[in-house]
Amino acid sequence: MRKPVIAGNWKLYKTAPEALELVSGLMPLISGRSNVEVVVAPVFTVIDRVRAAIAGSGIFLAAQDCFWEEEGAFTGEVSPKMLADVGCSHVIVGHSERRQFFAESDAAVNKKIRAAVGAGLTVIFCIGETLEERESGNTFNVLSGQVSGGLEGMVPADMEKVIVAYEPVWAIGTGRTASETQAQEAHAFIRSQVSKLFNAEVAQSVRILYGGSVKPENIGGLIAQPDIDGALVGGASLKPDSFAALVNAA
Ligand code: PEP
Repeated sequence: MRKPVIAGNWKLYKTAPEALELVSGLMPLISGRSNVEVVVAPVFTVIDRVRAAIAGSGIFLAAQDCFWEEEGAFTGEVSPKMLADVGCSHVIVGHSERRQFFAESDAAVNKKIRAAVGAGLTVIFCIGETLEERESGNTFNVLSGQVSGGLEGMVPADMEKVIVAYEPVWAIGTGRTASETQAQEAHAFIRSQVSKLFNAEVAQSVRILYGGSVKPENIGGLIAQPDIDGALVGGASLKPDSFAALVNAA
């Protein structure tokens, strides 16, 4: 019922030639996989080149962030409308690296999500607790605050354009993955929060991805969990073979 999503977050990697090499290696390895929503999120500077390279492949194009205003005197920002204009269908919002290194608050994340949905983009909305928060028993409080803060003011119809990504901060880029049980427990909790905020139907249809050191070796057990609908992938999305293996496992 919920179509799996495998999304590659390229972070601050890949010049144009490198990005084109990656997608040209990837496309033949995943062709015909129409039962998985495959998304790649390059840096802003190569989005247009990647768009041209993946045209007709069925791969969706995402940006890694956006601003909430449509246009104006906001030096250095990129608006959802501009992302849509350049061919993006998706945008990642609230990644933990943005929260951690650029002080993005739940309120800022909320403004970005609303603007992006308003521009017709599908948002990959990232949430997740730090190691300290997990070890102090605050995981569910943190997730609940991030879900309600990030989705404030939204209505059920908006949620058709939202994919949630649960990414425990301690598992991102560390090689340390949440266990299948830890991940499933968090996903089920997030789904219950979505149900409380909206309704059971929205909760049943929203896709919730796991992110945090997902690799070909661990995706099988994660994706087999009832509330895990795919993965947001950093490191393993940077090589055609490993990313294709994730798509083909989904
Ligand atoms: C990410 O960037 O969202 C991520 C999950 O990274 P990694 O797969 O490298 O842990």
